[in-house]
Amino acid sequence: MPLTGIEIFKLLPKTNCGECGDPTCLAFAMKLAAGKAELSACPYVSEEAQTKLGEAAAPPIRPVTIGVGDRSLKIGSETVMFRHEKRFENPPGFAILISDTMDEPEVQARLERFRQLQYERVGITLRPELVAIKDDSGDAKNFEALVNKVKQNNGCGIILMSSNPDILAAGLRACADQKPLIYGATKENLESVADLAKAHSCPVAVKASSLEELSELTTKLTEAGVNDIVLDSGSRTVRQAFEDQVIIRSAALNKKFRPLGFPTIVFPCEMTDDPMKEAVIASIFVAKYGGVIVLSDFQGESLFPLLVERMNIYTDPQRPLATTEGIYEIGGPDENSPVLVTSNFSLTYFIVSGEIETSKVPSWLLVKDTEGLSVMTAWAAGKFVADAIAPFVKKSGIEDKVKHHNLIIPGYAAAESGGLEEELAGWKILVGPREGAHIPAYLRTWKPYGGEQ
Ligand code: SF4
Repeated sequence: MPLTGIEIFKLLPKTNCGECGDPTCLAFAMKLAAGKAELSACPYVSEEAQTKLGEAAAPPIRPVTIGVGDRSLKIGSETVMFRHEKRFENPPGFAILISDTMDEPEVQARLERFRQLQYERVGITLRPELVAIKDDSGDAKNFEALVNKVKQNNGCGIILMSSNPDILAAGLRACADQKPLIYGATKENLESVADLAKAHSCPVAVKASSLEELSELTTKLTEAGVNDIVLDSGSRTVRQAFEDQVIIRSAALNKKFRPLGFPTIVFPCEMTDDPMKEAVIASIFVAKYGGVIVLSDFQGESLFPLLVERMNIYTDPQRPLATTEGIYEIGGPDENSPVLVTSNFSLTYFIVSGEIETSKVPSWLLVKDTEGLSVMTAWAAGKFVADAIAPFVKKSGIEDKVKHHNLIIPGYAAAESGGLEEELAGWKILVGPREGAHIPAYLRTWKPYGGEQ
């Protein structure tokens, strides 16, 4: 188990010199224990303490980055078995498979789906990250040409899939600068693939036929100087692959077993031929504990729910997912359109904005920062009350956008209507429905002047 702040403190110089940026060694120790500081910030740690602390400070599951720049994918760094213990850190990446035996139209269609299938939800762009390029032809030139084509697809991370080091080398000639994931090292090709990974500073996936073999191979890789490793346990049945994921996570976190302390890659695409079953299998590995999830293809009806599931699972349970405070235009509103106000709990925003869209009545939606609390909870906590809503409405700039002065508040905040009319001079407060589902019917009777419903 990782060292506690006090255990770390005992190993520090205890001079409170402050050079690390913290006023005391104890404060620094606490930050180190929480993973919010780097040991290198203290110039006075003894070599012996450095060895002990370096080992303890290393995350039990090593972070691995695939790709470069803004769209690179970071996986690993997980610290808990269950999301409710703290949170899951780095969401898994979704990869679409493209084989070098596919014809040109199919390759282009897949790349197009990769580009097109992205969605905006609660201010977040949900999209897949990776293209897995598979060598099925056994022809290095073919493979390299496909890698070059995929590389034009700006923004995708790349997985190079071949068991032949020469073919992997051809792929790397085309895209080593993109830091692809090399898949993969096996007991047959370990040394050559390790050399490629080291020569190009790329992460490498290692595939074995058992967890014992996997541990042996990762040990050899780390001894060879390759540390950015992704694990494939080799299982291709749902049950065995699921068990492997749990055992790997548990060995890394609970036993501090370093040879399995890496993120994983899973292949729902090799576990079934049924696209819907594949999506269900992928959903299992979103929850437990895939780092990269390779799908045979992307279709909106299966990818979208997986992206939403991933967003939900990887949301910090201690911090509700919140929408940014501000004015949201729905359906192209104008100066006569209704103005509604709600809280910034993302689910609330999601439901209210969806119902406004359904109503087909263009509207202005004011989203008030309530620290991610829903309307009722925020109201009970004093964060969605007249004193808080009125200054927000005044500051929001909505008065410059509409001619009327009617504000629709949620039915659950009806008790605030009197206070709001006092605070917002000149505004008429209308109490809207309690339930989102009733918003469309309510809005269809909207009359901007007079404000009577
Ligand atoms: Fe303590 Fe080192 Fe920070 Fe100085 S730099 S306060 S010795 S932890």
